[in-house]
Amino acid sequence: MEGKGLPAMKDDLIHRDLASIVGEDYASNRPEELFIYSVDSGTEGPRKVDYVVMPKNVDQVQKIVAVANQHRIPITPMGANLTLNGLGLPVNGGIVMDMKRMDRILELNRQRKYVVVEAGVTQGMLGSYLEKNCPELEHSRPEAPPMATIVGNIVIRGHGYLSLRYGNNSHHINGLEVVLPTGEVCNIGAGCVSPWPFCKGPLPDMTGLFCGWNGTTGVITKLSLKLFPKRRMLDVVGYAMDDLELVPELLYQVTHTDMVDNLFVVGFASDTHESHKYVTASITGDLDEEIAYKKAVLKKIAAGYQEGRVRFDYPVWDPLKSRFVEKPPYVTPALAADFERGGGFRYCGAILPVDKIPEAWRKGMEIAHRLGINFSAGIQILGYCHSAMFGYVYPFNRAEEQEVERVRKAMRETNEAVLQMGGIPWKAEVAAQKQIIEKMEPNTHDLMKKIWKALDPNGIMNPGNWCK
Ligand SMILES: Cc1cc2nc3c(=O)[nH]c(=O)nc-3n(C[C@H](O)[C@H](O)[C@H](O)COP(=O)(O)OP(=O)(O)OC[C@H]3O[C@@H](n4cnc5c(N)ncnc54)[C@H](O)[C@@H]3O)c2cc1C
Repeated sequence: MEGKGLPAMKDDLIHRDLASIVGEDYASNRPEELFIYSVDSGTEGPRKVDYVVMPKNVDQVQKIVAVANQHRIPITPMGANLTLNGLGLPVNGGIVMDMKRMDRILELNRQRKYVVVEAGVTQGMLGSYLEKNCPELEHSRPEAPPMATIVGNIVIRGHGYLSLRYGNNSHHINGLEVVLPTGEVCNIGAGCVSPWPFCKGPLPDMTGLFCGWNGTTGVITKLSLKLFPKRRMLDVVGYAMDDLELVPELLYQVTHTDMVDNLFVVGFASDTHESHKYVTASITGDLDEEIAYKKAVLKKIAAGYQEGRVRFDYPVWDPLKSRFVEKPPYVTPALAADFERGGGFRYCGAILPVDKIPEAWRKGMEIAHRLGINFSAGIQILGYCHSAMFGYVYPFNRAEEQEVERVRKAMRETNEAVLQMGGIPWKAEVAAQKQIIEKMEPNTHDLMKKIWKALDPNGIMNPGNWCK
């Protein structure tokens, strides 16, 4: 595979080809511009990037894919590059395809509750658009900064504040338009038969060929996304407890009421084994009476525990309240990143069974204490306790290389511990992908390879990711 140290003549030729497709302003091989695309805000990179190109439409995407096939050079699609784990960075050099210019919201259908967006549409854009044009509907927004793209979040199988009720965000896809690695445009979901991308339809579910694959199977150009009812009122209640072992059963009981919309477990950086664990439950409604009723039911759960073991908290502590009531909540990065000392944080988002939360928490504390770094945990419950995204958050000061290295080590150890607990690191960085694949059943890994071979015979789409 080319992409590393291309000869100058050919280098110019590829650049000229790309510029002829998108225009001189949107194709670059200048080092100062490539550098921006070679790093992200975590500890990955810098990685080698040979070209960056910004297509405006699907036709241009197809032509860029043709150039990559002709020269056998890798393409890595990039949204906002905000995974913190370097998933938008090429592993083997080549072309970064920055999708930000494809930023149109193409259709909103209120009755059928869906919206069709291009690949560069961001969380912030869609949020503002819905507030203005259809305030009674919303999408499941992650806590990521507003410039994160809808498609980037779907590709990494992300989650948002509606993921307790409706599952992780890749469950909200109705359909996709994809440019395959061989250049054909493919429509997936009901829209490949019907005039409308209103659901996936009773068809083989091929959206799964593009979710979780980190851009190794094609370039998504459009997405039809489900929207959900937005209730008029939002409030939050809390439960505080000292005993970590109480958390899983409490979560079970809270979700069993069918009254919560978002459920989070938090613990702060200064935590010790003895300090409080805090569970927040978001509740929504259209009437004061509805909110009051839900609060009363949720309060009763705490009363079922021995005096003082689980304390019902309402109104909750102000910073936590704004953290969960304001959408999108911006507090997490401010709490987690060590901005005062130069900024930066990584998190290992481990997808775990809910009953593993205490063990996972203790492991994070142990790793952080041993390596002399800070640790905080943010745990989002997904799909009514069907799983949890356990966020091990490690802040660092970018200016101190030794501290950055300790955080890298913490990430490696955390990933290993997660796998040993029977969990799976989410949006795994390249090193963690290797750890996952080492543990994967060989036939499953072989199936992945067969899919790549069939879809991408020249191996141009993001090679190196997922050990491709
Ligand atoms: C402070 C902070 C908080 C966060 N909170 C959350 C959270 O609550 N929930 C959550 O889910 N995530 C969260 N994230 C993680 C992540 O930023 C988001 O999921 C984000 O939406 C990723 O989108 P992106 O545009 O940055 O994608 P990128 O990082 O640009 O891309 C992600 C992956 O998708 C591929 N890709 C991008 N576009 C395409 C395309 N058009 N076709 C094919 N492949 C493509 C890339 O190659 C890459 O592998 C958070 C991140 C930060 C920094």
